[in-house]
Amino acid sequence: MRSFVVQSPNVDPAEIEKFNAMASRWWDPDGDFKPLHRVNPLRVQFIEQYAEGLAGKRVLDVGCGGGILSEAMAKAGAQVTGIDMSPDALGVAKLHALESGVSIDYQQITAEEFALQHADQFDVVTCLEMLEHVPQPAAVVAACATLVKPGGRIVFSTLNRTLKAKLLGVYVAEYVLRWLPQGTHDAAKFIRPSELVGFAEHSGLSPLAMTGIHYNPLTSGFYLSDRNVDVNYLLACARPTEQVES
Ligand code: SAH
Repeated sequence: MRSFVVQSPNVDPAEIEKFNAMASRWWDPDGDFKPLHRVNPLRVQFIEQYAEGLAGKRVLDVGCGGGILSEAMAKAGAQVTGIDMSPDALGVAKLHALESGVSIDYQQITAEEFALQHADQFDVVTCLEMLEHVPQPAAVVAACATLVKPGGRIVFSTLNRTLKAKLLGVYVAEYVLRWLPQGTHDAAKFIRPSELVGFAEHSGLSPLAMTGIHYNPLTSGFYLSDRNVDVNYLLACARPTEQVES
C-alpha cells in the first residue's frame, strides 16, 4: 500500500486568506482571475485529451477555488466534486454553479483528508495552479494518486521555479500587466518539472505528457506548446492498473 503522512494540515493559512480576500472577483473575466479564465479552454482540451474524454467520468478537482475549471468539466459532461480550503472561494463556487445550472459537489476539505475516505474513486483528478500554494506539494500529489482509480488519469499544473517564471509569472503578471494582485505568487514556492515528475513517480504514477502554457503579448493570446516549460506548465499522469508493491 502506498502511504503518505498527513501532517498537521498541509495548508498555509496566509494563502487561504489571500484567496478568501479575492473570492468575490473570481468570475470577473477581467478581474483577478483573468489569466485562469483565458487559459481555461486550453486546460480543458488538454484534460479531455489525456483523460480520453470527460463525459460520464467521475472527476475530482483539487483546489477548485471558485470553480472555473470544475464548471467547465461539468459542462463537458463530467460528474464533478470540487475541494478547496478557502470557504469564501467555495461560497462563490456554489452560488455560481446554481446560476450556471450545473450540479457540482463542493466540499471544504484537504486532498489528504479526502483521500482517507475516497481512495480509488475517481476516473480523473485535476489539481491546477494549487501546488505552489501548499507547504508540502508532494503530499498533495500522493493524495491525488490515492484518490484516482487504478487506470485513471491525473492532471497537474503549476509554475516552474525559473528566473523567467519569476519575471513573467510574478513581476510582469502582478506588477506590469496587473493581471493578478501583488503577492499572489511566491516564486520560491514554484516547482520544477523534474520535482513534480519526481513527486508523481514516487506516488506510483506514470507521467504521460508535459506541455507549457504560453502567452503571446502580440496577439494577447495563450497557447499550449511543449517547446518549453519554463513558466507555467501542465503534466498529465496515469495511475497504472497494477501497482508494483514496494
Ligand atoms: N484550481 C483552480 C484555482 C486555482 S487558485 C483553477 O486553476 O482555476 C488556488 C486554489 O488553491 C485556491 O482556491 C486556494 O484556496 C486553494 N488552496 C490553497 N491551498 C490549499 C490546500 N492546502 N488545500 C486545498 N486547497 C488549497
